[in-house]
Amino acid sequence: MLEELSVAEARHAENVGREVVLQGWVRTRRDSKAGFSFLELNDGSSFGNIQVVADGKLENYESQIKHLSAGCSVTVAGLLKQSPGKGQATELHASRVTVHGTADVETYPLQKKRHSFEFLRTLAHLRPRTNTFGAVARVRNCVCNSIHQFFQEEGFLYIHTPVITASDCEGAGQMFRVTTLDLANPPKRGPQVDFARDFFDRPTFLTVSGQLEAEIFACSLGKAYTFGPTFRAENSNTARHLAEFWMVEPEMAFCDLDGDMDLAERFLKRIFRDVLEKCPEDMQFFNQRIDKTVIETLRRIIDSRFVRLSYTEAVEIFRASDEKFEFPVDWGADLQAEHERYLTERHFKCPVILFDYPRAIKPFYMYVNDDGRTVRAMDVLVPKVGEIIGGSQREDRLDVLRERMLEQDLDPDDYWWYLDLRRYGTVPHSGFGLGLERTVQFITGMANIRDVIPFPRTPGNAEF
Ligand code: ATP
Ligand code: MN
Repeated sequence: MLEELSVAEARHAENVGREVVLQGWVRTRRDSKAGFSFLELNDGSSFGNIQVVADGKLENYESQIKHLSAGCSVTVAGLLKQSPGKGQATELHASRVTVHGTADVETYPLQKKRHSFEFLRTLAHLRPRTNTFGAVARVRNCVCNSIHQFFQEEGFLYIHTPVITASDCEGAGQMFRVTTLDLANPPKRGPQVDFARDFFDRPTFLTVSGQLEAEIFACSLGKAYTFGPTFRAENSNTARHLAEFWMVEPEMAFCDLDGDMDLAERFLKRIFRDVLEKCPEDMQFFNQRIDKTVIETLRRIIDSRFVRLSYTEAVEIFRASDEKFEFPVDWGADLQAEHERYLTERHFKCPVILFDYPRAIKPFYMYVNDDGRTVRAMDVLVPKVGEIIGGSQREDRLDVLRERMLEQDLDPDDYWWYLDLRRYGTVPHSGFGLGLERTVQFITGMANIRDVIPFPRTPGNAEF
């Protein structure tokens, strides 16, 4: 009986002796002088390939097998044997090789072994066939699985917050507008475009965060999380920003900032542990070829406690240091990447949770501390990547929240439903947002965020 196995399964010694069928893409072909060929086959199920031994007596050996090259797709039936070769437990002795698609050696772009990541970005439709992008895809998948498992085990409800929104939670300049108006001839009200005549009878945008809606569910059902794409039209061409990225946002009722930081720390450690356990081969690759410190870094983090430091204490540290910062660090200023990196890479050499930021640099919904000048915000900073989590305890006092909206030139009437949550059965509650791509970047050591999402959206780039 022929069994269909994945390459990952077929590579296990325990399957030696089985008659199996494998399907995938050829990575390389080598011919032996003794009249047979070796094919390296990969099907995406694992980093490693399986070696297929194709005998010269196979009926299509001369016509097809001998011409197989990188990128060709095949189905191979045969017997799994113990491999005499080093670094592989098994090999497949083919009894039949069916060729589905060839890949012209002259034109197939992945012929060469190594391409720059930059070049591969122009081949988003083929780059998943490379070692690196296969490994990134598996690690990303593992992280997503881990995210859901963690929150399910912790009793959170998975909810879906809208992609199209009328509320602007961080400032309209950074949002993509959603409209069906005829841009060449929009309806006008005076000199202004009349968005009251747009599809939703009001201006609408792609969401920058599901937080406000997640708060609705936390303030009704206790613990909830949303996980989906978010959009920011910030024109920042950095290695850590995308115009479309994925964010997971838990929100908890009856939880203060300390509880929020505890959750964030537990959550990250869980993700790191899962990746090390479930993707050892992929992580080995990243550790060898991308960044020699990633495995050690993750292991150390799992066993350590994150440093927790107030913004004010951080400013003291910058002041006392000999470091020449490009931007000065006066109390009240927003921190730059250089400051974050100084803390995580040089001063503490580990993840740092910064909390209690100046109220003037943080959004209206963050809880105002008794000192009146800081809010209960927290950012989780990690070496190299910088901020991967941003969160806060939410302002749950109606009067303070209204005051904060006015302070930031927001019209409380636009947020009547958000204020209702403070009007009826208000509770202390907290939450945060973790950027999925920054997490994958940190885990894998990949330098550019565009290489950890299948189809990066950045200024000027949306072809694939
Ligand atoms: P930054 O200051 O790094 O631009 P932010 O403070 O604007 O980030 P938040 O609004 O706090 O980000 O969003 C929560 C998390 O979402 C961040 O900690 C980060 O992991 C992720 N994130 C934010 N903006 C982006 C982006 N443009 N591309 C990818 N991930 C992002
Ligand atoms: Mn932030």
